[in-house]
Amino acid sequence: MKLFDTKAGEIRDFVPIRANQVSIYVCGPTVQSAPHIGHLRSALVYDQLARWMEHRGYKVTLVRNVTDIDDKVLEKAQESGKNWWALALENERLFNSDYQKLGIQAPAYEPRATGHIPQMIELIQTLIERGHAYQALDGSANVYFDTESWGRYGELTNQGIDQMVSEEASSDKKRAEDFALWKSIKPGEPKTAGWNTPWGFGRPGWHIECSAMATRYLGEHFDIHGGGLDLRFPHHENELAQSQAAGHQFANYWIHNGLITTSGQKMSKSLGNSVTSQDLFALASASAVRYYLLSAHYRSVLDYQPAVLQEAQTALDRLHGFLDRAERELANTRFAKLELAVLPTEFVAELDDDLNIPAALAVMHEIARAGNADLDAERIREAHEKRNQLNAMLEVLGLGPSQWSTEQSEEHRALDTLMAGLIRERNQARLNKDYARADQIRDQLIASGIELFDTSDSTHWRLTDG
Ligand SMILES: [Zn+2]
Repeated sequence: MKLFDTKAGEIRDFVPIRANQVSIYVCGPTVQSAPHIGHLRSALVYDQLARWMEHRGYKVTLVRNVTDIDDKVLEKAQESGKNWWALALENERLFNSDYQKLGIQAPAYEPRATGHIPQMIELIQTLIERGHAYQALDGSANVYFDTESWGRYGELTNQGIDQMVSEEASSDKKRAEDFALWKSIKPGEPKTAGWNTPWGFGRPGWHIECSAMATRYLGEHFDIHGGGLDLRFPHHENELAQSQAAGHQFANYWIHNGLITTSGQKMSKSLGNSVTSQDLFALASASAVRYYLLSAHYRSVLDYQPAVLQEAQTALDRLHGFLDRAERELANTRFAKLELAVLPTEFVAELDDDLNIPAALAVMHEIARAGNADLDAERIREAHEKRNQLNAMLEVLGLGPSQWSTEQSEEHRALDTLMAGLIRERNQARLNKDYARADQIRDQLIASGIELFDTSDSTHWRLTDG
């Protein structure tokens, strides 16, 4: 298998450190708020990488952390009047429930930053002893990484040291480029958000968390480190520097997934165009969301607009449609039973080639088309083989009917039929300027725990939370 290694800047043959085993560390979310589409994509990319490597015979250990303490978590908690740890756990649960909805397999472990303070302290001590970190010049509990002491700083992103200022300037550090390993508690922050250390009371910097957790679960030398493209600098550059300065070999390959745009625009809170996972699941089935998120190469930008979900659903229906048709038409033949199949070589070749899922999907559509032609011409043996192959490929991508057949319950389908009628009536009432009736329908639905929302060309419904 070949993978694009960001550090090398090129596609490399994947060679595991330990025969037949793969260790992967992925930067998980900072659980300050509910997940958005970018979080889902990132988790799904590494889920798919792990699934494929498992299929290729490796024993995969995937670790994805949870950053449950951070400036933003503390800020959000203060705004909402909640305890920071309660807010973090609340959001962590939302993430897990959405990952599950999307069929993302649970990692081998999901360490929380706050559960690994001793490992962080130990790592920082090592860095201080080796002369790569120092306590703040003003005697506070801040500890900084000494970038000047580490000549290889910048090797992940190929930058000169002067380009790498990642934090606000501060008079308590030697150089602007030095980054925090440990932070003293700021005025107004709760005492519960700090720990005692040899250099004072405070909490970890973000980068040290991942270095400590990756090493704790995967060792000082592991195969793959992954995360979103936006994490390359400063987060990953700093992780790499501090881990290697501590004497660890750290990751052999650095993999980064592309980001998501909305109608061609960068997604951001200030533009008001970010898409939450709740928005996605309200507009489409989870399997269609999964298909859509897999439809661009993992290193490419994936653009979002509501129409793409319908396109994904149609494409997935086309694949499942062939399986359903083959099941019906082969039912009374000697090829009635679905059988295990060897994956087509071109499908395997595409996934081995830096996880080229869009090309693998194209292979699947080609086989579905050819399979339908076989059924048209009553070539039942050939149709049977293609059915088996397509089913096997869908399973590899987590899109197989076995996983999604119960996706829509009978209750959901019944409700959807009723809702279509009510939505039509409400929209007609609004056209007739009968706003009293339109509001009455909306209010009745809200009282039943259902909310309506309009997109540019249609109206949808979803169950309200709680
Ligand atoms: Zn990280």
